[in-house]
Amino acid sequence: MTPDEPLIPCSEAVERLWEYLDRTLSAEDQARVEQHLAFCRRCCGELEFARELRAFLATAAADEIPPDVRERLQGFVRELGG
Ligand SMILES: [Zn+2]
Repeated sequence: MTPDEPLIPCSEAVERLWEYLDRTLSAEDQARVEQHLAFCRRCCGELEFARELRAFLATAAADEIPPDVRERLQGFVRELGG
């Protein structure tokens, strides 16, 4: 990765948030996501949300997600679709 390489777009960063949290990305992709998060406030918010949701899912069945959280997740997914 060169210093001149442009940041990845938000769509790509958000798409990789879960893998980033799971640390299943390659070191290079991990660095790209980190680089994006360092500059993008919006995706930092998404990262916090994904982290919270992931912690929640670790302790509860998916069908027990409260409606407000489910709605937020659906909005999140819709946004990804553009
Ligand atoms: Zn972003």
